[in-house]
Amino acid sequence: MYDFEWILMRRISPDTWSSRVLERLKWYYEVMIDRKPAKFLICRKVGLGDSSLSGYTYEELLDIHNRLSNEFKKLFEDVRYDKLSLKEFKRLEEPKTTYLDVKIELVKRILRSCSLCEWRCGVNRYEVKGIMCRLDTRTYVSSYFLHVGEEPQLIPSGTIFYGSCNFRCVFCQNYEISQVRPYDGIEVNPKELSLIQKYLRESGAKNINHVGGEPTPNLLTILESLKLLDVNVPQLWNSNLYLTTQSLTILLDVIDIWLPDFKYGNNVCAQRLSKVKNYFDIVSRNHKIICENKDPIIIRHLVMPNHVECCSKPILEWIASNCPHALVNIMDQYRPEYLVITKAEEYRDIARRPSHKELEEVYEYARKLKIAFEEVSK
Ligand code: SF4
Repeated sequence: MYDFEWILMRRISPDTWSSRVLERLKWYYEVMIDRKPAKFLICRKVGLGDSSLSGYTYEELLDIHNRLSNEFKKLFEDVRYDKLSLKEFKRLEEPKTTYLDVKIELVKRILRSCSLCEWRCGVNRYEVKGIMCRLDTRTYVSSYFLHVGEEPQLIPSGTIFYGSCNFRCVFCQNYEISQVRPYDGIEVNPKELSLIQKYLRESGAKNINHVGGEPTPNLLTILESLKLLDVNVPQLWNSNLYLTTQSLTILLDVIDIWLPDFKYGNNVCAQRLSKVKNYFDIVSRNHKIICENKDPIIIRHLVMPNHVECCSKPILEWIASNCPHALVNIMDQYRPEYLVITKAEEYRDIARRPSHKELEEVYEYARKLKIAFEEVSK
């Protein structure tokens, strides 16, 4: 037996697809087994007769987007509840200008004064690099492969690591690609990115896992790649979720399953350890929008030493009240990395692994709040 097979077997237990998991991830599951088309394919069946969007103002495009979103929802419901068979869906014609084209045009306009994420740098990324993400409109892929270390329902996951990040986490485990050498990967255009996704799916990926660094600054290349992608595969957004509501609105009808991080239970810890402003307000707002859309979601929470009371418990309370259908991966693998090692005095509180007692306390708290975490936290 190859190591790869052993890892797969080790992580797939009988409760991987328990009834409560299946109920919560049903849409993702059905796209994964090719019983339903991914949302990006549905987006390509909705649209306009016009062949050009360049004459519309941003506000007019937003109106068109809202109208097409309603049309998308109707078609999505028909597909989801089998009012339209897969065969009938495939026979639908693709409009000249699709809902996906409208999304792409909106992102192109946003990039002229970038507010894809809540840093709202306001720079023209066709000319200069973003202040925090340090990216112009080019996209760098640091690596892509079948990841077998993710949640059991997701593996093997066709993971694409994008270079650079809009956060500055002092403990980042991917600091080489997110902070130190963000441009070291291969520069990809939309066609190349679509071919990477096709290759991963045909190699056995259950999903395409957009991660970094952070995928948000690369939204244009990602959406353009979906216009060209000719295989069915669930799209997974693995993000710090620090994006603006306009970016989230553009993504909502595209992503089949969300895998966001929820790291901090307050703004102060986030400012100190990831150097971001208003973290809790922004990230909880975005989680709420996704949860209200009833999308499949696995929220990842990394337990950090000495942050059980200020971060872990408030996050679990927030999820129990605002997103009870979410699965939660309570992660135990925190280890000191990057600046926590080189500036140990400054980050003494997180300069060790979480203790067994701390982890047990968080698991127990989640059980008390009736949060579904066991199946995805192994
Ligand atoms: S993606 Fe975020 S960090 Fe990058 S330029 Fe845009 S607003 Fe700034």
